[in-house]
Parts: sequence; C-alpha cells; structure tokens
Amino acid sequence: MLRAEGVTLGYGGTPVVHDVTLDITEGGVGLIGESGSGKTTLARAFLGLLTPMSGNIWYGDQTLKKADQRRFRKDVQPVFQAEALDPRMRIGGSVAEGLSRGERHRVPELLRQVGLAPELAERRPHQLSGGQRQRVVIARALAVGPRLLILDEPTSALDVTVQARILDLLASLDTERLLITHNLAVVGRLCRTSHVLFAGRVVEAGPTAELLDRPAHPYTLALRDAVPKLGGPPPVARGRTEARPAETGCPFRLRCPLAAAACERAPALREVAGRQVACHRAEDVLGG
Ligand code: SF4
Repeated sequence: MLRAEGVTLGYGGTPVVHDVTLDITEGGVGLIGESGSGKTTLARAFLGLLTPMSGNIWYGDQTLKKADQRRFRKDVQPVFQAEALDPRMRIGGSVAEGLSRGERHRVPELLRQVGLAPELAERRPHQLSGGQRQRVVIARALAVGPRLLILDEPTSALDVTVQARILDLLASLDTERLLITHNLAVVGRLCRTSHVLFAGRVVEAGPTAELLDRPAHPYTLALRDAVPKLGGPPPVARGRTEARPAETGCPFRLRCPLAAAACERAPALREVAGRQVACHRAEDVLGG
C-alpha cells in the first residue's frame, strides 16, 4: 500500500536517512532503532510531511505527491503519543475531529471499540490516565476508517501493564500498521516483518521472528540483548555506545565488537539466511 523506494531524506540539505527501500506489507511492519536513527523522519515522509531529497514514496501505483490527498488522509492515519491531545478539548470532541457533523453519533461506539466507557467523552485529557489517553488517540485515528496506522512509539510513555493492554488492542484491530519503536519486544507482537535502522540506513530487514531469534547484524543483536522486555528504557547498543556513526566505511564500525579491516569499506545490503543485512561479517554473527 505504501512503499519507499530509494528514499533519501534530510533537513536543510543534510541527509539523515539514506537510500531506504521499504514496503508496508500485510501483517505489520516494524521500524526499529535508537533515538537519532532516522525512524521518525521516515515516518514523517510516509505521512507526506517531508518530501524526499531523492527517491519516491509510492501510494498504490502513484507517488505520494500525485496521489489523491483526501483519500490518502483517510487511508493513512498517524497515532502519536497521547500528549498530542488538545488539553482544552473534551475527549468526545477530540475523537470526532475527523468526522462530519452527521457522523458524530459514532463517538460512543469508537470509545467502546478501544475499551473505553462512552461517558468519558465529556472529560478532558487531564482527567484520564495515560493508558486511557492513548486509547483516545487510537479511537481518533480509527474514526475515519483508515487502512493503515502509522504508530510512533505508541506505548513508550506507559507503564508495563498498560503497555501490554494497548498492544493487545492494537493487535486486535483489523488495520495494517507501521510501528516505529526502539523496543524489539513490541515489534515481536505486532509486526510480521521489521527493518532495523542505524544512522539513517537499513542495516537488517526481514521476518521479525528471524531477526529476534537469530540476528545477523551486530547492531540488531545489541538491540535485542539490551532490552528484551516491555517497559524498559530506550536501549543503546553494547560496546562503545558513545561513538558517533563512522563517516566512511561501515557506519557501525566504531561501536562494533567484530569490526575488521574489511569494514573500512561500506557494506551493501545483501541476502543472508532469509533476510537483508548490511554487514561483511553477517555469517559470523549468525554462527555465534
Ligand atoms: S560491517 Fe564490520 S563494522 Fe559493520 S557491522 Fe559488520 S562487522 Fe561490524
């Protein structure tokens, strides 16, 4: 439904996401990386909020630029953190934002769909818990009947039990999803395939279960081992985590415990064990 093809993105002429190709396919897609990896920038491009410096975002068989914007805004809805709710608006008003006057009677049904009592429509955001507010944000996105939700860290501000309930809710919805997160445990539940980003580049992509079971890139391995449980703080990779991405060769080489002379040459994505990986030593990582 949405596809990034050779997309480079940046701000003020400086690229921060490099040559990414990514298909949003059935079963959910995860976009994983630590802060600064470029995942939110890519999400903004998928929402049409940022124009690629090169490459294209495709929506069906048209580029996003040429697509029917009304249809696109109905089909593709963002779900950000609950803090995005207007504190002055009543909950019912927030949920109804994308509805016409004649459709506002659907607010109670939408609140019920996300597990909230319809009576909460009269309250304001500060009268709700964090988990309830996140449900309101999801209800607001669902109101227009989207085909795809773009979820940016939808549960990271919530405590563990509430996170688990929100994930159950998301898993039960009949809507495709692109999930942006630092947390591999979250993608494990919601996404059939995943892309791991480091310094704006895809370093590993493939079936989520494979990436979790047998990572082939040292960065995926480090992320998996850093915080496997829900509710933890954002992970950073092991090793010299203070090191910046290298400007030449493999961007991960200043952190990588396996870095070798060959890594002064930038690795291209290649097929290894059923996934794409950009590492000269992927076979060594897989071999343990
Ligand atoms: S290419 Fe080299 S430096 Fe980069 S991740 Fe692989 S082993 Fe590490």
